[in-house]
Amino acid sequence: MFVRIDGKALAARLREEIGRQVSRLRQHDLVTPGLAVILVGEDPASQVYVRNKATQAREAGMSSFEYRLADSVPQTKLLDLIERLNRDPEVHGILVQLPLPPQVEESGVIQAIDPGKDIDGFHPINVGQVAIGGPGLVPCTPLGCLMLLKHQLVDLSGQHAVVLGRSNIVGKPMASLLLREDCTVTVAHSRTRQLEDLCRQADILVAAVGRPQLIKGDWIKPGATVIDVGINRVEAEGRTRLVGDVDFATASDVAAAITPVPGGVGPMTIACLLLNTLQATCHQYDIPFPDDIVSRAWGDTTA
Ligand code: NAD
Repeated sequence: MFVRIDGKALAARLREEIGRQVSRLRQHDLVTPGLAVILVGEDPASQVYVRNKATQAREAGMSSFEYRLADSVPQTKLLDLIERLNRDPEVHGILVQLPLPPQVEESGVIQAIDPGKDIDGFHPINVGQVAIGGPGLVPCTPLGCLMLLKHQLVDLSGQHAVVLGRSNIVGKPMASLLLREDCTVTVAHSRTRQLEDLCRQADILVAAVGRPQLIKGDWIKPGATVIDVGINRVEAEGRTRLVGDVDFATASDVAAAITPVPGGVGPMTIACLLLNTLQATCHQYDIPFPDDIVSRAWGDTTA
């Protein structure tokens, strides 16, 4: 039976459980987790993302601090703000919304964030920890994808996973996480030859290319599980709508399960941001982090 993986509902349940854990911390006067979000410029999509992140943090009982800087902000000013937030005891997680304007060097900004507060998991220390299977903060989008996969499949061991896309924020960490689950992992990208044949070999297909509906039903192995990370805005009949990297209509005739766009990976990304903020807070205060939080939220033992 075909399954439309309901990331929206699963993310809502995860956020509720995070909220319960946050109120537990607050009731015991331990700490209120605090999330600081920095937005540079006026990019409309980034404004929506930042607003959603701040709203959902507050709904989970966290403190939310928003910093909006002009598109022309000099790098030094942004670095000064990050330095101040690194030292601020009320801030436990720091996020700089990407992309940044051209005068700001992205890697310098990411490296300025205290790795213990780097809830996006982009700092090289956290990237390295994910690669070697150590502790650390895991990038939110691949973390959410992995949770959805484990919820759907339980055991990923031995599965052939094909990851389409090799970006630092999705493709590469996704491949590392799948390796940790004992998958056989192939990473494909814009220079990969015979992409369609490769996709047809995948038991698990994770698409993160940013190409609207590139992956058609006849690229997919019957019974595969498909995670569609892509968020693409397309114009149709005078309206803008969101589509993924997968052509849902044809893919759903072949795959066993697919995440829809919207309502799949996107909501899980924000829930994982809150989870990382909770984890960073617990770590900073030496409070045990409830490792079983996802299975508690979903009432299963898979995640
Ligand atoms: P990116 O542009 O940094 O990377 C895209 C990758 O896809 C590159 O590695 C490139 O080599 C590969 N690629 C491009 N065209 C290809 C093709 N025709 N065939 C094979 N590979 C190809 O993008 P990103 O930041 O990794 O994001 C990818 C998509 O995921 C975008 O649509 C983005 O909006 C979306 N995204 C969604 C979330 C979420 O929360 N759902 C989070 C991050 C990114």
